[in-house]
Amino acid sequence: MPSDLPDHLQHYIGGEHVDSADGATFAVLDPVSNETYLQAAAGKAADVDRAVAAARHAFEEGPWPRMLPRERSRVLHRVADIVESRDARLAELESFDSGLPITQALGQARRAAENFRFFADLVVAQTDDAFKVPGRQLNYVNRKPIGVAGLITPWNTPFMLESWKLGPALATGNTVVLKPAEFTPLSASLWAGIFEEAGVPAGVFNLVHGLGEEAGDALVKHPDVPLISFTGESRTGQLIFANAAPHLKGLSMELGGKSPAVVFADADLDAAIDATIFGVFSLNGERCTAGSRILVQREIYDEFVERYAAQATRVVVGPPHEATTEVGALVHPEHYDKVMRYIELGKTEGRLVAGGGRPDGFPTGNYVAPTVFADVPPDARIFQEEIFGPVVAITPFDTDEEALALANGVQYGLAAYVWTNDLRRAHTFAQAVDAGMVWLNSNNVRDLRTPFGGVKASGLGHEGGYRSIDFYTHQQAVHVTL
Ligand code: NAD
Repeated sequence: MPSDLPDHLQHYIGGEHVDSADGATFAVLDPVSNETYLQAAAGKAADVDRAVAAARHAFEEGPWPRMLPRERSRVLHRVADIVESRDARLAELESFDSGLPITQALGQARRAAENFRFFADLVVAQTDDAFKVPGRQLNYVNRKPIGVAGLITPWNTPFMLESWKLGPALATGNTVVLKPAEFTPLSASLWAGIFEEAGVPAGVFNLVHGLGEEAGDALVKHPDVPLISFTGESRTGQLIFANAAPHLKGLSMELGGKSPAVVFADADLDAAIDATIFGVFSLNGERCTAGSRILVQREIYDEFVERYAAQATRVVVGPPHEATTEVGALVHPEHYDKVMRYIELGKTEGRLVAGGGRPDGFPTGNYVAPTVFADVPPDARIFQEEIFGPVVAITPFDTDEEALALANGVQYGLAAYVWTNDLRRAHTFAQAVDAGMVWLNSNNVRDLRTPFGGVKASGLGHEGGYRSIDFYTHQQAVHVTL
């Protein structure tokens, strides 16, 4: 257990650490012992009201929205410096709270710093359009922060995903209320100290812990919150969409996935196997862009399945804090039960070739052996539904057309991975596949300037690069007759 753990987490509102108005708390478990290690304040509508009022005051009266981009950028670079300087502690806490392997949690802490650095730079480099009709008219764009942004985040890689919203929301001059996931509130609490130390004025960043149906719901329905950026399940996204409708809020939704990795017979098989193992078993399989369906061309299918299953069996399951661990403990017993139910279902829908339940030597904790099902038909639930754990379905195909139909034959469209040495085939497939992001012969590595977002049930809108700046700002057109 990490040293100096708090036993109680509070909200952070208007620069102060406070309990819920009604004193309510909820229990937070660690995924290895599944015991409660702290209580967190359970925010309700009254607490959200208070946080929104503080954020609104900071937006209307405070310096933040009025600072030059360069000035805000300096503060946000300091945030990045502080996050970087504490990466080991952040990783330790995140790994303990979420069950992520410590080496991967360290990578995520560094990505959080990088997100801040990126948006701090971008907002300074920002240019806006101006159009001139010679001798007649000048038209230009005023870009303005919108107000109080409501940020609602999930429990997978929580600190990094929070930074993905906090960075651009703050860089563009908005003030925020963050509602982090209730399974993993520990690392979110660190933002308060980081922002204070970096010089973010009080009221600009506010944090309300609590359950989605209470604190999250109140934030979505609050009339003084014109923007909601949400990352989470597609079902929750639908509910938020409906609840935000009466206020016509700006919405950005990053939702679930069931992304295909398509391996053609002409692919570099060693590279494809390594990448597709990493694609579904890294981050415990609790990754929105996981390649959780692998479609393999018939000529190489048997060899692929045999080699893949053998490699999956060698993936090291272990305590999250150990440096050699590749798959740690799933976040929460409820989620563990859900993943285990899918594994049992998978045994009736496909052919189990690796894993299949709790790994040997781990009688307690939310440990799941990397699990591989082969010969999974496309109407199987384990082919169609997001499992969000270390479980993968492999399905054969014969032709490019069949691969495309299988890839697109689910409700989701977040990511796709294609393995082939035929350049034309790779680009043609990328063009046709229903996916917000496609990786050709590559691991899931992003360039922060590119759009991030899904199609179909995987999301609404795009963030990433200038698209994040667009989401968090109004663009007002000004016309001048010359
Ligand atoms: P979730 O939808 O259960 O919860 C996400 C957040 O929404 C939490 O903070 C939760 O408290 C809150 N919430 C729940 N109900 C709410 C309501 N009625 N109103 C307002 N807020 C509410 O998702 P999760 O289980 O925490 O996260 C896993 C999901 O997130 C997976 O589906 C995964 O694919 C998705 N995800 C998507 C991306 C992406 O970028 N597309 C990234 C990470 C995770």
